[in-house]
Amino acid sequence: MESSLPRLPHHPEKLGGLRRATVQNPLRVFCSGCLLGWSCGVDGGDSGMGGAADFFLNSPLVEAVPFCPEDFTLGTPRDLPDIHGGDGFAVWQGKARVLDSTGGDCTEAMKAGAEAALELALKQRVELALLTDMSAACGSQVISDGGRLQLPRKYRRGVGVTTALFLKHGIPVCSQRDFHTLAKIQRHLDPDFPWPENASDHHQTAWYREYFSIDHQFEGES
Ligand code: SF4
Repeated sequence: MESSLPRLPHHPEKLGGLRRATVQNPLRVFCSGCLLGWSCGVDGGDSGMGGAADFFLNSPLVEAVPFCPEDFTLGTPRDLPDIHGGDGFAVWQGKARVLDSTGGDCTEAMKAGAEAALELALKQRVELALLTDMSAACGSQVISDGGRLQLPRKYRRGVGVTTALFLKHGIPVCSQRDFHTLAKIQRHLDPDFPWPENASDHHQTAWYREYFSIDHQFEGES
């Protein structure tokens, strides 16, 4: 277990620089395809993610740019990939590998999927990425620490392979579980957006704090 660690460095302060979008010129948001209900999950479903961020992605002030980096190179259905030995940054540094649930090494395919995602994001000039947490490609707060089918399942604070590449290129990322940050962005885009009660980000939840033994408030929290 980790303790007394700072909030992950990308999150969420870089989101403050987002422009005020309009209906005519909405905020361009790259999103995990499964968040829009694409059948791109490992088993050919949407992993229960369809609709998870509807309140944000359906805003007329947001233009979604969906993509699935794993489907792009590994296809669907596919064996479940997870990072072994670090997070997405470590994969790009050559210090960690991505293995699927049969033990097959899919590191290069995961990197190729991330590069295709980045190419689309840059072409579409996205200003934010909203990615599905826990995924070896799209995770931005938490990923599995090794294969997630091994019990007990272990978690790591960290980012997936695609998320790491986005952050390296200056694209801010948050997850579908970061309700406080998403509400902040909504309020930034639309000052009349009704503030939801008890909206918290994933790193502020009881599960996160207990699992990672965090006993302090993160910078900027009150
Ligand atoms: S790789 Fe990303 S977009 Fe594709 S199913 Fe997994 S979380 Fe969704």
